[in-house]
Amino acid sequence: MLMKSDTPLQDATDEGTPVSVKIRERLAQARKRFNANDNIAKFIEPGELEKLLDEVTGKMQGVLDSLVIDTATDHNTHNTARRVAKMYLNEVFKGRYVHAPTITEFPNAEHLNELMIVGPITVRSACSHHFCPVIGKIWIGVLPNEHTNVIGLSKYARLAEWVMGRPQIQEEAVVQLADLIMEKTQPDGLAIVMEASHYCMAWRGVKDMDSKMINSVMRGVFLKDSTLRREFLALIPQKG
Ligand SMILES: [Zn+2]
Repeated sequence: MLMKSDTPLQDATDEGTPVSVKIRERLAQARKRFNANDNIAKFIEPGELEKLLDEVTGKMQGVLDSLVIDTATDHNTHNTARRVAKMYLNEVFKGRYVHAPTITEFPNAEHLNELMIVGPITVRSACSHHFCPVIGKIWIGVLPNEHTNVIGLSKYARLAEWVMGRPQIQEEAVVQLADLIMEKTQPDGLAIVMEASHYCMAWRGVKDMDSKMINSVMRGVFLKDSTLRREFLALIPQKG
């Protein structure tokens, strides 16, 4: 026999709904993409990140159980599910769940219009394919104009950290970072070079410890002006 509940159906179903399902429903309703390297902070309500942490802990515990690891008696893995959940949500994939760092932009009062290079900035990410670390460096070249907003040098690192703090694909990561810097500062030209070791190549797969992936993205005048492009590439210290 079916039990009849006095609680209104809405509340009853909402109570047991995992918070990730609620967030996904909002994303679906807004027709927003939520790929691994998308930021979804706008769809998370206050207090939900803590609930998400509990949910991921429970699911991570299930992974450990299925790996047949005795987390009850093995003190080394006793709190591993919680530690991994915290690492994902609050550290290495934080760039998915929090809003962009607040960056104060200033007008270009000095009318700077010379090529400026920032780097190397150390970047840490993980590949979307295996969730293995991707660690490397980026160099950013900016050609400002009189209307370009100026941001402090350390701010480039903070923007990079936000973009890289998601499961990423290197080619897409540099494009996301370029879009973000273009939007924030609107320079005449922007160039980004990223060089990184992918640990899914070193730890597993071909187990090649030395292979690195280098890619670049050019915007604005860097696309048209090969002299400028060469100047930027020549000024980047020898990679490797
Ligand atoms: Zn990988």
